[in-house]
Amino acid sequence: MATFWVRLRRIPGWIWPLAVGVVLITLPFVGLNYTVTRQIELSLLLALIVGGMNLSFGYAGELALGQVAMYAAGAYTAGLISKAGVTELWLQLIAGALAALAVGLISGVPGLRLGGWSLAMTSFFLILLVPDVLSMFKGITGGRNGMSGIASPTFFGEMIDTRSYYVAIVLVAILWFAVMRNLVVSRHGTALRVLKQSPVLASSMGISVFRTKLIAYALGALPAGLAGVLFANLDMFISPEAFSFSFAMTVLAASIFGGSASIYGALIGAAVLQFGMNQSTNFQQYGLIISGAFLLLGGVLFTGGVSGLVRRGIRRLDRAAHVRLGQTTETGQTGELGPMPGARTEIAGVSKAFGGNQALSDVDVVAEPGAVTAIIGPNGSGKTTLLNMVSGFYRADAGTISLDGEQIQGRASYRVARAGVSRTFQTPNIPEKLTVLEVVESGRYAADRASVLSAVLRLPRFRRVRRSDREQALQALVLVGLSAHSDEFADALPLGNRRLLEVARSLASSPKVLLLDEVASGLDEDELDVLEALIRRLRDAGMTVVLVEHNFQLVLRLADDIYVLAQGKVMAHGTPAQIERDPQVLEEYLGAAVDTDIIGGDDGR
Ligand code: ADP
Ligand code: MG
Repeated sequence: MATFWVRLRRIPGWIWPLAVGVVLITLPFVGLNYTVTRQIELSLLLALIVGGMNLSFGYAGELALGQVAMYAAGAYTAGLISKAGVTELWLQLIAGALAALAVGLISGVPGLRLGGWSLAMTSFFLILLVPDVLSMFKGITGGRNGMSGIASPTFFGEMIDTRSYYVAIVLVAILWFAVMRNLVVSRHGTALRVLKQSPVLASSMGISVFRTKLIAYALGALPAGLAGVLFANLDMFISPEAFSFSFAMTVLAASIFGGSASIYGALIGAAVLQFGMNQSTNFQQYGLIISGAFLLLGGVLFTGGVSGLVRRGIRRLDRAAHVRLGQTTETGQTGELGPMPGARTEIAGVSKAFGGNQALSDVDVVAEPGAVTAIIGPNGSGKTTLLNMVSGFYRADAGTISLDGEQIQGRASYRVARAGVSRTFQTPNIPEKLTVLEVVESGRYAADRASVLSAVLRLPRFRRVRRSDREQALQALVLVGLSAHSDEFADALPLGNRRLLEVARSLASSPKVLLLDEVASGLDEDELDVLEALIRRLRDAGMTVVLVEHNFQLVLRLADDIYVLAQGKVMAHGTPAQIERDPQVLEEYLGAAVDTDIIGGDDGR
């Protein structure tokens, strides 16, 4: 059994969907009857809509129900241009996809700009509007009576017969799921998963939260538009009933039941719902109830839907059979560091208040390249806030922040990250369900660009970026001593390793300025040695290192320059030798604790 499983797992992953596709295409030719093929067709159309929804719902974490409106846009576009005499299916597919894209963009921009629940609400109203809009333009849409008189679709002038039409639907589905797979397994898929879990983290890594969510939402409109075109030509009749609220619930139920954060979950969910619905004769009447039942099943009984269940089963079998799929064990990385030029970071006169709480007042800090600049001070003195200001999370009330003389104050945080500022968090921010290697690779987002299109089409540029992402990530893992863990789930690592992992993620972005927030707390002796040696090497390589740290001895050993913060003000500044002897620092702040760590807890980010 175990060896059988191991052999099964050696088969490349893309074989399975391909096999399913081939079987589906041949079915009508080996005598499958019309009723079943029609159910398969409807399942695939539903799967296209659900797959599109999963990009924003499952991956980007935005509940958006608008897919049904995009589906309607595709269907009515096809109907209209068919009646106008354009029966070429591929022309209709392009037009329908574009119409759906337009609906997606128009409805997505305001919702995503406002954030939070806005997109869920705007898309909810969008689907409620569909029947009314269709009635308003009764003259061309036929209103509630529907649109009839759609001509048979053609392919380069040839009429498409029933069986060929079935094949066309399967092919479009294969095409979309290949696109979706390419996207999801690319750095953009990882970016979506990161921003779903932590927009703050995503933007600190150079990911524009708004843009990335909009791309996911807009891209998800395309398969809905395609499905609409295929639906209109299937019965050559469309009416508003097909685009009802109840259908939107079916889409949502299929998404959750199949597993919304999965590639093929849409196919499973759609097939189960489509065939399930078909068993109920009073489909119209009970549709909502059936959808509700599946929603509960998928959402409550097993998280992650059927595909989550399958994934967990596979993992269990893998463990039992000791399958190791990691291709990353021998890395060939030496951990050599080339030059890493830093940027002079100047914080001048920065103030920041939260309500009545003056967290920073008139702070001046300069961090030079090729030096470690330490910022110390008691809890609540404003250290993390200062890093947050540099990262662009907050806007300063007064003052300026610049990199090599260039203003970054007021820029969005993802732009600051792209300008070369990378950071770790006081409480490590490691997304779930990503491997150690994936987490570090995700840090590359700020360093190198590869468009969504190049990822979907696997263009040479994308492959090049992906290769260098992997190399740089492995290199960073060697540097922090975590390369043996590259295939493990990152969120399962112990605290010390998670801190080092954050350092690796930051390094992978080849930053000019590295901001480390209490990175040594929770590290054991060995990890501390690795970290200390690494910080020295980074400094010697020329990087600008800003170290917020409670461990005073570590600071004295590492820092070239120390700033002491107290209640949001710089109370002392100097070399370790000066700070160690500064009577004011000793008396007011360090007290008797000079030769031990400065006592502190964990708060803030
Ligand atoms: P440190 O990192 O030195 O321990 P922080 O920068 O976390 O200190 O906090 C400085 C002060 O600013 C504290 O009084 C804290 O409560 C406050 N503060 C920090 N972030 C926020 C925020 N997002 N909203 C309100 N108050 C904040
Ligand atoms: Mg802090």
